[in-house]
Amino acid sequence: MKYVTFAQQGTRTPRVGVLDEEAGTVAPLPADAVPEGLLSVVDRDVADEPPAATEAPVPVADVRLLAPLPRPRHDLVCVGKNYAEHATEFARSGRDATGSGPDVPTAPIFFTKAPTTIVGPDDVVDPHLDLTDALDYEAEIAVIIGRGGRGIRPEDAMDHVWGYTLVNDVTARDLQERHKQWYLGKSLDTFCPMGPWAVTADEVDLTETWLECRVNGELRQRACTTDLIFDVPTLVATLSAGITLAPGDVIATGTPAGVALGFDPPRYLVPGDVVEVSATSLGVLRNVIGDGGR
Ligand code: MG
Repeated sequence: MKYVTFAQQGTRTPRVGVLDEEAGTVAPLPADAVPEGLLSVVDRDVADEPPAATEAPVPVADVRLLAPLPRPRHDLVCVGKNYAEHATEFARSGRDATGSGPDVPTAPIFFTKAPTTIVGPDDVVDPHLDLTDALDYEAEIAVIIGRGGRGIRPEDAMDHVWGYTLVNDVTARDLQERHKQWYLGKSLDTFCPMGPWAVTADEVDLTETWLECRVNGELRQRACTTDLIFDVPTLVATLSAGITLAPGDVIATGTPAGVALGFDPPRYLVPGDVVEVSATSLGVLRNVIGDGGR
């Protein structure tokens, strides 16, 4: 099942609907059945009482898609350097301030992004020109947790995955380097485009999903989930060993090689650039870099 969060024409109220990609329609769910939007869908799926659409489908072209989870309950958990080639390009750039050690990590590196970073498909990314001149993109597949818990074993981890979506882990490389810890450089407002939809886990074969990123139509990143250093069961087990995961928590699984800082010289984003993150079954997440109000 593909779910979208959307606003109907002339309204700002977020609704949740089931997307029929082939028909190009959205069947809205009754608002009172999902008071917390997609979070309520996840909660109800966990409780085994999935909500059903009751209204007539509307053309997806007539609605504005929003981020599937516009405000998760917690910070987004992200994984750093989870594709070997990207770990190498990051080390080579000289901007990795996380200290010494092997370029390719031997245990998952976790950091978080504030929920206030999230924007939807086609939303403008604020380049924060007063704070950074090293704006980068990172195409990533994000896991949406269903049933929560602590001490989840790797072999049980996929039972706790509700579904997936795409994110662009937008990063200010200069802030990331200057402030050492990655939170600040990755948590500026609008730095997490998400969408265009959320897909339930039964419709995604994460053992072989291709992830791509294009900037102004040029292919910059392309990798398969078989290239992940730490797979989803490992990430869920490592995180949940001492932290209770909750329904609707989001884990961004890391980005492949080909980010702007990997080029010599770096090819950072500038106002007007169009970034498209896409993956098998997960659609295309397109965003434009704004002019920063100038
Ligand atoms: Mg990232």
